[in-house]
Amino acid sequence: MRTTLWAIVFASFLASCSSQESDEAAPPDGSQAFFGATLFDGTGADAIANAVVVVRDGRIEAVGAADSVEIPAGAERIDVSGKTIVPGLINTHGHVSGVLGLEGNHYNRENLLRQLSLYARYGVTTVNSLGGDGVEAVALRDAEDANLERARITVAGEVVTGTTVEEVQAQVDANIALGVDFIKIRVDDNLGAGEKMTPELYRAAIDLAHENDLKLASHMFYLDDAKGLLEAGSDFIAHSVRDQQVDDEFITLLKEKNVCYCPTLTREVSTFVYESVPDWFEDPFFLKDADSAVLEQLKDAERMQSVQQSPAAKGYKKALEVALPNLKKVADGGATIAFGTDTGPAGRFQGYFEHMELEMMADAGLSPKQILMSATGDAASCVGYSDVGTLETGKWADFIILNEDPLADIRNMRSIDAVYIAGNQVPDDT
Ligand SMILES: [Zn+2]
Repeated sequence: MRTTLWAIVFASFLASCSSQESDEAAPPDGSQAFFGATLFDGTGADAIANAVVVVRDGRIEAVGAADSVEIPAGAERIDVSGKTIVPGLINTHGHVSGVLGLEGNHYNRENLLRQLSLYARYGVTTVNSLGGDGVEAVALRDAEDANLERARITVAGEVVTGTTVEEVQAQVDANIALGVDFIKIRVDDNLGAGEKMTPELYRAAIDLAHENDLKLASHMFYLDDAKGLLEAGSDFIAHSVRDQQVDDEFITLLKEKNVCYCPTLTREVSTFVYESVPDWFEDPFFLKDADSAVLEQLKDAERMQSVQQSPAAKGYKKALEVALPNLKKVADGGATIAFGTDTGPAGRFQGYFEHMELEMMADAGLSPKQILMSATGDAASCVGYSDVGTLETGKWADFIILNEDPLADIRNMRSIDAVYIAGNQVPDDT
């Protein structure tokens, strides 16, 4: 009988898949075991060859070298030999915003989900959205569970920019009422075009955030402001210092205060790159998730001309030349770098720009391991995440399976085979 024959073949197939001790196939127990890959776990330890990652209920149940981890008899076995597993990337400074194409005012649940799925497809599994966040984002954050298939989000609410102590405190209070994870302030004069938040005002914001057990992230541009913010207790430097070379005093302050430095190099790129048609408009890794209508808008001759003539574009182009060596100096000085891009605003493409940022960090002189740490374990500790960023027992199973080794070349972060969030494979498109 055909059915009998198939039953026998199937049973012997199952038996051959099960653990050595048992002759009978164990029933599936809902766990998954990824085996055979090289593992970079984000803790700073060396990569492990021939590793096993066991996932159950969205979290890592066991992880380590094959000879130290027992695969449950009922696990679904996934052979990832020859590949590399790294923790999902954490963008410590992004914006999950109301931008759709190049247009604002589309702040709604559907658009937020679109962006979180886009980040996820590129391997960005958590985004710290530093400003412009509303109740819809808070609801999405609060709904994250073991069924998640898109990037995680934490939020800062509205950026605090008040011009009196009372105004600043009211803005901080409104964010606290919203249920934010971070307070974000903006201390910048837009290359001399506006008024900066004064030390009195930023101290008021920092103190009120701390009274409410919230960390505060500072948007800044100038070295002197960055130092003042550190002295006042800012918990996060959300951009590169871009007016001059950083000095030892600044690096010492970062280390003494245990504050991380977030370069956002691609933010600078976005201000001037559309003066002409960027090379990457022909990059398949970009085009796979790009909207051709948006590219046409950016290629518009008049638009390109206005970027060419923009004093801000010229200013930030120069600022990038300051930011790159500053990143190297801060990293060499032993302060912690937090990977972040400031993506989300129009023309700062979520997902693709994170990979551009990784590559620019390499251009600045950081090693692949330094860059990976900044985007995984270090990123998590910089912004206070306790259950993502490293692949350790008990953490969420957020990871990327890569076809090529990113420790050999950070560009290999592009060779994505699959992205998992809470043990769920992120769908190719939505
Ligand atoms: Zn930002």
